[in-house]
Amino acid sequence: MGKDTALGAPPLETKHFQHNSAPEWLRDGSPHVWRPYTQMQTAAPALPVVTAKGVYLTLADGRELIDGIASWWTACHGYGHAHIIDAMAKQLDEMPHVMFGGIGHEPGYKLASRLAQLLPGDLDHVFFADSGSVAVEIALKMALQYWLNKGKEGRASFVTFRNGYHGDTIGAMSVSDPEDGMHRIFKGHLKEPYLLDIPASVEELDEIDRFLADKYKSIAAMILEPLVQGAGGMKFHDPEVLTGLSDIASKYDILLIADEIFTGFGRTGSMFACEQAGIVPDIICLGKALTGGTISLAATIARSHVYEAFLSDDPEKSLMHGPTYMGNPLACAAANASLDLFETEPRFQQIKAIEGRLKVGLEPCSDLERVIDVRVKGAIGVVQVDDLGDIDWLREEAIRRGIWLRPFGDIVYLTPSFIIEEQELAQLTGAIVSLLSDWNERAL
Ligand SMILES: *Cc1c(COP(=O)(O)O)cnc(C)c1O
Repeated sequence: MGKDTALGAPPLETKHFQHNSAPEWLRDGSPHVWRPYTQMQTAAPALPVVTAKGVYLTLADGRELIDGIASWWTACHGYGHAHIIDAMAKQLDEMPHVMFGGIGHEPGYKLASRLAQLLPGDLDHVFFADSGSVAVEIALKMALQYWLNKGKEGRASFVTFRNGYHGDTIGAMSVSDPEDGMHRIFKGHLKEPYLLDIPASVEELDEIDRFLADKYKSIAAMILEPLVQGAGGMKFHDPEVLTGLSDIASKYDILLIADEIFTGFGRTGSMFACEQAGIVPDIICLGKALTGGTISLAATIARSHVYEAFLSDDPEKSLMHGPTYMGNPLACAAANASLDLFETEPRFQQIKAIEGRLKVGLEPCSDLERVIDVRVKGAIGVVQVDDLGDIDWLREEAIRRGIWLRPFGDIVYLTPSFIIEEQELAQLTGAIVSLLSDWNERAL
């Protein structure tokens, strides 16, 4: 134990956060676990969760919280859906993993066909990865090599958008917002993309067109999060703007990479956000809810013309990529089961109902002095404020009200599981209204 103290154990009790009965594993493990996006010196301790079922997280001390954000937007069917668990149990028994190099297996090949079927147009060629960031890396690499394989040397830059977020690995960071994003400390140390603003309306598309008219010969691809920029602050844009951006990219023969890692699988109200704009990107990245929030899996899917640029007698023109756990059968079985649920359960009706209830439930927040905007799209509800202030206070007050939230930047948001009941959703929105009313008073 002396050793742990020497390592600088973070406090298990903080000004806002008391652990009446922190379990032993949390006490013993806390000095050793380096947590995500966390200032380890000052952070409140992690919340000890022991089980997750439906929309509920159960804490070590027995309390139950309604999860407002579905574990970073992944658990779209709620936790522990029997259909997914059964499919995974069966796969675990038969073959949890084999390599994908030279070996094929039914869960992976089935999933590839199903994704190709579901995705618009000729997005037919599925390259599996193990996380969203890696799927983005693969998309960027594909785009660069696409031009090299075609014998066009100078197409090496990317166009990206303010408030964009595409992951935490170096390539993904380099196409995320370098100024306001979470990686701004690295500004000047990464290859810089052309950073543009997403036009507020179709009238402003001309500016983008003019910019690209000059530059397009140096550009490999444009990457964006269609309709909703997630980790950059849950910012929305209209489908017409997205259609316009896609038109401009194709006018200048710039590949369009749609990062649907957050928006994919129903979150914005359609299976994929691109469908609402009627566009078919050249490359699309999927992840997060792909396995219904059970296990990590991601995919980069290319249109036929992209795929065909890699076909050759020359082995050098192959895509030289292959994550060790690529196409993990257990993860593919989970993803197939998750896709089943979109067919057998009324997800899109549920999303529509959630959208209506989020609008009504969060509306009272717009009366608060320090609230700047309340917006809803699909199963995403956002309250944007002038300044969140003490995020630990907000988090603790949410827990006190029986809900789990993760406010960031200048927003408090909800991205619940699609199976959430009306009454549970009312508890979430009601808690946010009460929480932000207290916060509004407190801050003034
Ligand atoms: C979460 C996210 C990523 C990164 O996915 P990881 O699985 O965390 O690596 C990339 N792009 C978008 C839009 C995301 O929301």
